Amino acid sequence: MADRITIKSESQHEAMRKAGALTGETLAYLAGLVKPGISTKELDEAAEAYIRSRGGIPSFLNYDGFPASICTSVNEQIVHGIPSKKQILRDGDIISIDCGVILDGFHGDAARTILVGEVSPEVQQLVRVTKECFFKGFEQAVVGNHISDISRAVEAHANEYGYGIVRELVGHGIGSNMHEAPEVPNYTNPRFGRGARLVPGMAIAVEPMINLGTRRVDFLSDGWTCVTLDRKPSAHYENTIFITENGPEILTNPI
Ligand code: MG
Ligand code: MG
Repeated sequence: MADRITIKSESQHEAMRKAGALTGETLAYLAGLVKPGISTKELDEAAEAYIRSRGGIPSFLNYDGFPASICTSVNEQIVHGIPSKKQILRDGDIISIDCGVILDGFHGDAARTILVGEVSPEVQQLVRVTKECFFKGFEQAVVGNHISDISRAVEAHANEYGYGIVRELVGHGIGSNMHEAPEVPNYTNPRFGRGARLVPGMAIAVEPMINLGTRRVDFLSDGWTCVTLDRKPSAHYENTIFITENGPEILTNPI
């Protein structure tokens, strides 16, 4: 991860728009494929083919050794689930798909939690509120505010529902690297202070990871998959956003 905040030029902003658009389009395409009976491996293969056919590179593939082009995290899996032909989606599941694309040297990063068939009202609410948490944070991503203003807005909305907010993983700056400074936590802590001040030309990925039950997490023995400690469902919603004088711009086509 780049340890300093990078400020993008107008031409770099344009490049990030293109990378972000492809990321969002890939997720919209994958959302259309999700149905009971499909394996997470099939979704991964479809994602890689789609991204490459449009001139992009799936940035997750081989990132720190990650073996796939997308992360597929089902039900109690929070993030970093590894696609597998043995994992078949069933009616009532939820699946969080996280997708990263490199196009012309710049990254897009976004995630959606998608309902599989008939999902319980309780879990549907979790998915809806997690998306709302992103937009509460997004509204605060204005010039002059600080990272903690985003964190506080996400945290307050999740707390209204008594949900667990994951702390071990956070949002991040993004640009010619997938992960750059600053970190964008989904919770506040006095030791973080106000965080970096938002200025035009910054790009950040805001990504609430919200649990139905405890905020506590566990990691599976595959070395990647992060799950809820109580094995209750979790949802994830992420977009890459660009800070401009005229307000924040979502680069990854929200659905
Ligand atoms: Mg992501
Ligand atoms: Mg991210």
